[in-house]
Amino acid sequence: AAMRQQRIKKTKTVCTYCGVGCSFDVWTKGREILKVDPQIEAPANGISTCIKGKFGWDFVNSDERLTKPLIREGDAFREASWEEAYNLIASKFTDIKQQHGSQALTFISSSKCTNEESYLMQKLARGVIGTNNIDNCSRYCQTPATMGLFRTVGHGGDSGSIKDIEKSELVIVIGSNTSESHPVLATRVKRSHKLHNQKLIVADLRKHEMADRADLFIQPRAGSDLVWLSAVTKYILDEGLADYDFLQKNVNGLEMFKQNLEKFTLDFAVSATGLSKETLIQVAETISQSKSVCVLWAMGVTQHMGGSDTSTAISNLLLVTGNYGRPGVGSYPLRGHNNVQGASDFGSMPDRLPSYEKVADEKVRAKYEQAWGVKIPEEPGLNNHEMVQGIHDGHVKAMYLKGEDMGIVDSNINHVHAAYEKLDFFVVQDLFLTRTAQFADVVLPASPSLEKEGTFTNTERRIQRLYQVLEPLGDSKPDWEIIRDIANHLGAGWEYTHPSDIMTEAAQLAPLFAGVSYERLEGYNSLQWPVAEDGTDTPILFTDGFPFEDKKARLFPVDWTEPKEFGEEYDIHVNNGRLLEHFHEGNMTYRSEGITSKTPNTFLEVSHELANERGLKDGTLVRLSSPYGSVKVHCLITERVKGKEVYLPMNDSGEAAINLLTSSYSDKDTDTPAYKETSAKLEVLKEE
Ligand code: SF4
Repeated sequence: AAMRQQRIKKTKTVCTYCGVGCSFDVWTKGREILKVDPQIEAPANGISTCIKGKFGWDFVNSDERLTKPLIREGDAFREASWEEAYNLIASKFTDIKQQHGSQALTFISSSKCTNEESYLMQKLARGVIGTNNIDNCSRYCQTPATMGLFRTVGHGGDSGSIKDIEKSELVIVIGSNTSESHPVLATRVKRSHKLHNQKLIVADLRKHEMADRADLFIQPRAGSDLVWLSAVTKYILDEGLADYDFLQKNVNGLEMFKQNLEKFTLDFAVSATGLSKETLIQVAETISQSKSVCVLWAMGVTQHMGGSDTSTAISNLLLVTGNYGRPGVGSYPLRGHNNVQGASDFGSMPDRLPSYEKVADEKVRAKYEQAWGVKIPEEPGLNNHEMVQGIHDGHVKAMYLKGEDMGIVDSNINHVHAAYEKLDFFVVQDLFLTRTAQFADVVLPASPSLEKEGTFTNTERRIQRLYQVLEPLGDSKPDWEIIRDIANHLGAGWEYTHPSDIMTEAAQLAPLFAGVSYERLEGYNSLQWPVAEDGTDTPILFTDGFPFEDKKARLFPVDWTEPKEFGEEYDIHVNNGRLLEHFHEGNMTYRSEGITSKTPNTFLEVSHELANERGLKDGTLVRLSSPYGSVKVHCLITERVKGKEVYLPMNDSGEAAINLLTSSYSDKDTDTPAYKETSAKLEVLKEE
């Protein structure tokens, strides 16, 4: 056996670091990762990866991995057996349900985990405990994009494939630092921009790499994207530049939409966005002159109080100009985590079952009730944001959270930590004793993607299989096994022996995945949902109309929500987001040497103007304080930001954690935190 363990082997997996969904072979010898070897047949990336996919894997062998369940004793944890941990969880969940009802329990799934694991987590909440209190971390990023698309075109996913972006005449990137957040996808855009004469418009606060390359780079005021998008749409309609043929055949609601647009005149847009009239007209004319337009957007759009409405405005513009249902057109909300798309697709949402079927729909509930032999509550459950508030208000008593350092990545984390202190019972399942896990009563050691089987769905709705590269470290287990075992300790009698059993069940129940099977996903094969029973998948959505009864899309009127102001004292706008090298709070990438040797810690990007005004230099230590907390961080003076705009990467879980500053204000339609509406005051600190 020892000999066998040392044999060199190659296993196909899917990257765990972003929604592009690069797949590749991993060569290993024992637990040593020899190389990451992308293959030409990989559908999203071919032979490319970025630095994270190539070098970001040391964390799997970190000494800090959790290898045994931990149970709290006073201020410390002690190691426990799985059996002891399961029994404790089952008895606590049962007690809390008996005393306070099933709505006192909450469940949070992970966008890093597999589709099968998200399916099981929502089945545990709904089918075993009897609550719809289930959510996942797309609530922190992309739920507003999903909402904007549901309202207008009926499916909440990228409308085309990544490779089709190359066929577009014009690509518009809004609020997305694509080169660093979705590097391999950005490479495709950069290539077609360079080789195929593709035009590129970038709208952002920060002059990142894509902005540098753009034919037109616009910097509208923070939080004003909806205004310029609506003004451009109005101009296109007013000047007779819309695709009237497409509108007539495929779209409802034009008259009401036009009425609502009345207020978005060019003059109003100039005053709200700071862009010139000429620039707005140039954008409108470039769009209307291009035969195919696609829009890529990310957190710069969604993480605002009007994030869903701005996503809706993007989709409205695409409808008015006939840019849906063909190659090289449409909407591309770029999903952040590797499985943000799948976690929601497979039902880890408080108001939706798998396939986005509504909890409120009696027929849908009846289907699941019959299959699972349970009663599902009619009322939608609490989302992540409402769960935190529910703990503060006293009606939420327990939380089972997997694969998310929520106490770092949610907004206003001092408020979140105070909530954790009030929980009667808190279970955290993760790879490391994260900041969040330190609040738990029971910590369960999970296995990362390299140690399990399953499927992920990338940003273009592509479902891909990952195969087990390594054995789970120590006593850690894949998340699906842990959820199954907890359910069975609660008397569920689940018999899944492999993730494929879970997918088979999901495919029978969820229409979008009817034809999904592990056989059809063998090796590098993949399927883009919706997948018909015979296995036909859908690389481009809406070629045959929109998924409404009359097959027509809907123009959805939206209004501008002005960004939150925090008073004159807080005069610095703190933009935030990713860095190429690091992932999220950094729990995995800071434990990977190949990455930390390049980018060992975080920094605050400061403009030359602000540096001159306050006497800041590269390396000056400053404190930023908002009404909610403060961070300490060193400055980096750069051209990328201007004026009183600073940029704090989100990859720190210590003194520079961005969410010490952010507020609890959120998108009014989805409760996604308004991370991008953060202001602070700045003071220079003396180094100790
Ligand atoms: Fe992984 Fe995204 Fe990089 Fe591809 S682009 S290797 S999926 S982090």
